[in-house]
Amino acid sequence: MLTDYHVHLRPDTADAVPERYFTAANAERYREAATERGIGELGVSEHIYRFSEALSIWDNGLWREFAHDDVDAYCAFVREETDLRLGIEADFVPGREDRVASFLEAREWDYVVGSIHFVGEGALDHEDYDIWGMGQGPEKVWTTYFAWLGELARTGMYDILAHPDLVKHWGRRRPFPDGDLRRFYELAMDGIAESQIAIEVSTAGLRKPVGELYPSAAFLEMCLDAGCPVALSSDAHTPEQLGFGYEQALAYLADLGVSELATFDRRERRLEPIGALA
Ligand SMILES: [Zn+2]
Ligand SMILES: [Zn+2]
Repeated sequence: MLTDYHVHLRPDTADAVPERYFTAANAERYREAATERGIGELGVSEHIYRFSEALSIWDNGLWREFAHDDVDAYCAFVREETDLRLGIEADFVPGREDRVASFLEAREWDYVVGSIHFVGEGALDHEDYDIWGMGQGPEKVWTTYFAWLGELARTGMYDILAHPDLVKHWGRRRPFPDGDLRRFYELAMDGIAESQIAIEVSTAGLRKPVGELYPSAAFLEMCLDAGCPVALSSDAHTPEQLGFGYEQALAYLADLGVSELATFDRRERRLEPIGALA
C-alpha cells in the first residue's frame, strides 16, 4: 500500500478557480497518475484558507487574497464526483483553536492535515509575507515554530502533522540556526507523543529551495521513538507531482525501519504495510 493524501487539485494561485479544477475529469487525471505509480490510496486536502469561511477564523493578508470558495461545495464535489478521500489542510492558528474546531467538526472528513505556514504575521514559505525580513533571528523563529508544532498536535484536532520542519523551506538562503537542531525538535515532542498524531513524510521539500525531505531524519527518529505512525505524501499541486520523489522517501523510511503507513477513512486510522512503486 502506498498513499498520497496531502494533495491539491490546483496550483497555489488565487486565480485557480474551482470551476476549472474541481471537475471529475481533473480528479480522474490525478487518479490515473497515482495508479501509474502504484499509489492506491489517494486523497485531496485543499487549504482551509481557500474557503471564504476561513476569514472568520483568521483575517490576514494572504488568506484574504485566497479565501473565495465554498467549503461545502468542495466537500460535495469530492464525495459525489470523485473516488478520492476527502481531506483538508488546516492551519494551526494559536488562540483560534475553537474556531478551527467548529469549522472542522461541521464536515465529515476522511482526515485533517495540520500545518503551520505562518509564525505570527510572517510566512515560512511565501516570499510576499516572508518572515525573514521581520526582525526575528533564526533561534527565535525556530523556537516558536517547534513549540507551536507541539501545540498543534496537542489540540487533537488534526490527524496528520504536515511537512513537519517546513521552517527549513529556504535552506541556507535565509538565516539558519547553528548546531544540533534537536534542541528545537524537542520543543514539539511532548505534544506529539501525547497526541500520537501521524507524522507526514513529505517529498515536497525536494522541490523547494532546501532540497530535502520533510522532516529531517533526526526529527522523524524522535517521533518514531515516541510511537507515532508515518503518513506519506507529495503535497502535489499537479498530477505530474503525485508520488514525486517517492523512491527517495521509501529508501529513507526503510533506513529508519518504518514498514507501515497510516491510512484514513472517516478519521479512523489504520496501519498498512508499505507497498512498492509501480
Ligand atoms: Zn502546507
Ligand atoms: Zn499543501
